[in-house]
Amino acid sequence: MSAFRIQASDGAARTGELTTLHGPVRTPAFMPVGTHATVKALDPSEVRASGADILLCNAYHLALRPGVELIERAGGLHSFMGWDRAILSDSGGYQLVSLRNVTSVDDGGAVFVSPYDGSRLRVTPEDAVGIQHRLGSDVIMCLDHPVPFGASMQAVEDAARRTAAWAERCRSVHPGGGRLLFGIAKGGFDAELRHHSAQQIATLDFDGNAVCGLSVGEPLPLMEEMTAASLSALPPERPRYFMGLGTDRELLTMIGLGVDMFDCVVPTRLARNGTALTPSGHLSLRGAAAQDDLSPIDPTCACAACSRFSRAYLRHLFKSGEILAHRLVSLHNLTHLGRLMDQARDAIQERRFAAFRRTAAALADAGGVAEPG
Ligand SMILES: [Zn+2]
Repeated sequence: MSAFRIQASDGAARTGELTTLHGPVRTPAFMPVGTHATVKALDPSEVRASGADILLCNAYHLALRPGVELIERAGGLHSFMGWDRAILSDSGGYQLVSLRNVTSVDDGGAVFVSPYDGSRLRVTPEDAVGIQHRLGSDVIMCLDHPVPFGASMQAVEDAARRTAAWAERCRSVHPGGGRLLFGIAKGGFDAELRHHSAQQIATLDFDGNAVCGLSVGEPLPLMEEMTAASLSALPPERPRYFMGLGTDRELLTMIGLGVDMFDCVVPTRLARNGTALTPSGHLSLRGAAAQDDLSPIDPTCACAACSRFSRAYLRHLFKSGEILAHRLVSLHNLTHLGRLMDQARDAIQERRFAAFRRTAAALADAGGVAEPG
C-alpha cells in the first residue's frame, strides 16, 4: 500500500498526506534543513511551531560526526536531537559537488573526505541506505551522483546512468518496515535525458521520487521546463520532491507543476544574515529603513518574532551582535514558509490555486524586492 494519499488536486497541483513512522506529513511540504541534526539557532519545538511536519538531516555529515554508533546508542536520530516528527535524510551525494574536499566516484560508490579531520569514508549505495536506516530516518534517499553546473553532456549522462544503477542497488537492500525509500531523477539541463532518467527511476517503484540538480542559478522558465520533463515520467501517485528550493515564487511554480516536497537552507541562512521573508518580498533588518520602524516584520504573521518584537528591535539586535536575532528571524522565516504551504494546501483543496499563486506573485512584485535565485 502506498504511504502517500492525494486528497485533492487542482490542475497539476495536489495536496495530500505522506504517512511516516513519525506521523503524517501534509503536502505540499517545506522541510527545514538540519544538516547537523539541528536547524540552526532553533529548538525542535520552535521548528515544529513553524508548521513543519518533517525536517531534513544529512546522513554523510552525521556519519562523520558524531558517528552512527553514538546516534544508535542514543536511540536513533529522533531521540538524539529531540525531534519526534518525521526526518528525511539526504544520502550525501550533494556533498560530492558542494564540498571542496577531494572526492572520487566510480561505479562501486563514492569516497567522501571528512571536512573535519581529512579522514576518508567510502560509501557504496548499500552503505548509504544502511547508514540512514541505522540513523532511524523515516525517508531514506538513494545515493546519487551529482555533477556541478556547467558539466559536459557526457558527465551528465554518466552521472544519470550511475545514479540509476545505484538506485537499483539501494532498492535491493532497503529494509522497508514503514521506512520509505526515495529515488532520485537526474539529467542536467537536457529534457530528453531528464525524461529518460525519471523513467529508469520510475521502474524501481520507490515510495517517492526526487528531482535533483536544478535551482543552481538557471532562470525559472528553464527550471520549469526541466522539472516538467522529469515529472512527465515519474508516477503521479507517488510524492515528488524537488531538492533544494526555498523562495516563494519558485515554490508556488513547482507546486503548480505537481511537486509535493521541498527543502532549502536559504531561509534560515538569510535569517542569520538579517533578511526576513515576507509576502511582499525580502526585508532587510540590517538596513537604515528598519532603524525607527516599530512595526513587526509581517503584521499578518503570528510567530513569536512578529507577535512580540519590532523591526527596530530586531535591527538593534543584529547591530549589537545578539544571537537572539538569529533565533527570532529564523523562526519567522520558517513560519513564513510554513504558512505559504498551509495557504497552498487550502487553495488546492478549494480549487483556487492558480488565483492564489497570481495574487502571491503580484504582492511580491508590488513589494519591489527581487528574490534571489
Ligand atoms: Zn513572523
